[in-house]
Amino acid sequence: MTFVAQVRAAGHLVLNALMPPQCLACGASVDRHGGVCAACFGRIAFITRPVCHACGVQIAAIDSDNALCGACIRERPAFRMARAVFAYQDEGRDLVLQLKHADRTDMARHLSGWMAREGGSIIGATDVIVPVPMHWTRLAMRTYNQAALLASALGTLSGKPVAPDALTRRRATPSQGPLGREARRRNVAGAFIARRPEAIANKTVLLVDDVLTTGATANACSRALLKAGATAVDVLCLARVPLPG
Ligand SMILES: [Zn+2]
Ligand SMILES: [Zn+2]
Repeated sequence: MTFVAQVRAAGHLVLNALMPPQCLACGASVDRHGGVCAACFGRIAFITRPVCHACGVQIAAIDSDNALCGACIRERPAFRMARAVFAYQDEGRDLVLQLKHADRTDMARHLSGWMAREGGSIIGATDVIVPVPMHWTRLAMRTYNQAALLASALGTLSGKPVAPDALTRRRATPSQGPLGREARRRNVAGAFIARRPEAIANKTVLLVDDVLTTGATANACSRALLKAGATAVDVLCLARVPLPG
């Protein structure tokens, strides 16, 4: 074992003694930091192929890698492609809610590793990473923006620059929670603006968020980025809401 490896191994021992590794979802003890226990793993609905080439939603078996879902056939999103790690349901939903509401900023570091594995090829084509912004009034209540945490952790992992302030939310939009597809689109239309066009002009942008629902927010952000001169926008999220049924 090299000296560096010895130091690293010793570091792991110290870390494990101070903070025994726990399942990110339920807190049960596990072998190593940043993972989930077998039971929780089994309850996370990881997104598997085939998926819609554009929005990344799981679709019925098809014979082409470029197949689109019904919604994307009717209208292509402003972003090029969106991908997510797991479905926003069961244990996956709990993970996102913990990241969002509990004081678990450490989770962003681990979960961004999952995103980096899922979006490896997308990240490879990225020039700059931009999080979906939160309006300052909501940020003031919550103290941190989980999308910005994920974006920053992805930047550290990938070595790609992060522009956390490239986009801004012009107005506080009402919660998207109870809204349907069309209402969501109206709710966020024009809500975002590129505050620092020089950070994104002529660049391929990776937009990062925690959850993709109908894609209305990702679309509105992508339009603002493209309007400010971005070459293309891809989207990487932790979770996405599955199609009904
Ligand atoms: Zn667990
Ligand atoms: Zn689609």
